[in-house]
Amino acid sequence: TTFAFDDRVSLVTGAGSGIGRAMAFAFAKAGARVVVCDVDRERAEPTASGIGDAAIVAAADISDEASVGALVETAISAYGRIDVLCNNAGIMDTMALPADIPVGLWERVLRVNLTGTFLVTHAVLPHMLREGRGAIVNTASEAGIRGGTAGAAYTASKHGVVGLTRSVAWAYAKDGIRCNAILPGPTLTGIASAESVGSFDPTGAARLAPVLARGERMAQPEQMADAALFLASDAASFVNGAIMPVDGGWSAA
Ligand code: NAD
Repeated sequence: TTFAFDDRVSLVTGAGSGIGRAMAFAFAKAGARVVVCDVDRERAEPTASGIGDAAIVAAADISDEASVGALVETAISAYGRIDVLCNNAGIMDTMALPADIPVGLWERVLRVNLTGTFLVTHAVLPHMLREGRGAIVNTASEAGIRGGTAGAAYTASKHGVVGLTRSVAWAYAKDGIRCNAILPGPTLTGIASAESVGSFDPTGAARLAPVLARGERMAQPEQMADAALFLASDAASFVNGAIMPVDGGWSAA
């Protein structure tokens, strides 16, 4: 069927937890071989062993150019090409508002979420162009289209991911490469407990609370993976540059 990924190679970043892990499992179940990338090897390993022979672990930090180079090298030497790239790794901010966010935190969140997504895309594209085929799915966020669902840094970083998605979609539409983004609503993962950014900024958290409360219900990571699977599949062969909310209707309100 058009949802099949037999003989395809899928690279998923942030695949050691949450949405990325669910994506890795979903692609493997659909027949793909999966490169399981996470900055934390101990998280990536159970994902890969849960898949079995059709997966390899590639520990890499998407925010580091040399590390990304090694990641793509590992994927290509294992499987020869990359058909699907899920740029999914990301970190939250502290929900700090623009006046309050420390500049260092701003830089770190932009570096991982936006520059990291760019670095992996930049390194993978030449291989997709060589094959004349590829599908990229970026995990953006509701914060990529709205101003009141996260702090300033996360919001700006995810708006950047939306812009990069459109740039790639437009640039390579005639080269057999598609690029789309999912915008997850609140999803049950490890992200809120991730040690990366520290505790919430009380002013920002209080300001955002009423908006977040309208999220109504939490999604499961598998619901995000299913949407990504569709966008990466041949069933979406004419879907390019789509910025797709996967939020149960939250952003429709
Ligand atoms: P998670 O924390 O459960 O998983 C993210 C994984 O990414 C972790 O295993 C972490 O080790 C890895 N990672 C972090 N920095 C990395 C780096 N520099 N290089 C490589 N790997 C790195 O979070 P999640 O909720 O599954 O998040 C996945 C994506 O979904 C993120 O981009 C996030 O912004 C986005 N998102 C999540 C939600 C939500 O409610 N959970 C909502 C909207 C968007």
